[in-house]
Amino acid sequence: QPVVGVLALQGDVREHAAALKECDVRVRPVRRVEELDGLHGIVLPGGESTTMSRLLETFELLEPLKARIAGGLPAYGSCAGMIMLAGKVLDGRPDQHQLDGIDMIVRRNAFGRQVDSFEEDLDFTGVEGGPVHAVFIRAPWVESVSPEVEVLARVPEPEPGAETAGSIPAGAAGRIVAVRQRSVLATAFHPELTGDGRVHRLFTEIVRAS
Ligand code: GLN
Repeated sequence: QPVVGVLALQGDVREHAAALKECDVRVRPVRRVEELDGLHGIVLPGGESTTMSRLLETFELLEPLKARIAGGLPAYGSCAGMIMLAGKVLDGRPDQHQLDGIDMIVRRNAFGRQVDSFEEDLDFTGVEGGPVHAVFIRAPWVESVSPEVEVLARVPEPEPGAETAGSIPAGAAGRIVAVRQRSVLATAFHPELTGDGRVHRLFTEIVRAS
C-alpha cells in the first residue's frame, strides 16, 4: 500500500485522513521532517494558510517539503492547502510562504466578505459519476494558470432565467476552483467534508501511477 502523508500542523487533518483511509492507502500524519521519508504522496489540508505557512517554518518543514514536491512527490491541497501549493498568492500576508507546486496565482478569500461560505455542484474533469458537491469556506480562487496547468473545475454560470443567482456569489461564475499540474492537485473547496471520496480517489490514483 502506498503511504500518503497528511500535513498535521493545522487544519482539518482528521477529515482528510478519514477520506484517504477509504482509498486503500496507509495514512501518516506529518509534523516532522523525518516523516517525509518514504512518502508516496502528501495532502495539505484546509485551514489557515498564513498559520500553516508560519508553522511550516517553525517546524523546519517548509524548504524540505518544497524540495520534495519540486522533485515529484505527488501532493493534493484543499483550500488553504491550495493556497500553499500556488507559486504566488494575492491578498496574502507579506510574510506568507509558498510551496510553489503549481504554476498558478491564487487569490485568498476571493469570494468576498459577503459570503463566508457557499456550496455548489461542479463538473470535475477526471471524476466520473456526476457533479461533485463542493463546499467553499472562505475559499480562494485561481486567478490565473500557466499553460502547463490543467483546469479541472470552474464555478458554473447561474442557470439562465433563474430568479436568483442561487448560492453562487457575485463575480464567482467561471472562476477556476480545481487544477492539476503533473502529479500536484488542488481544489479551492473541501471534498474531505462531504463524504464524497471521488477527489481523494483521483489523488490516490495519481499517487499509484507515479
Ligand atoms: N481563508 C483561508 C486561508 O486564507 C482558507 C480557508 C480554508 O482553508 N477553508 O488560508
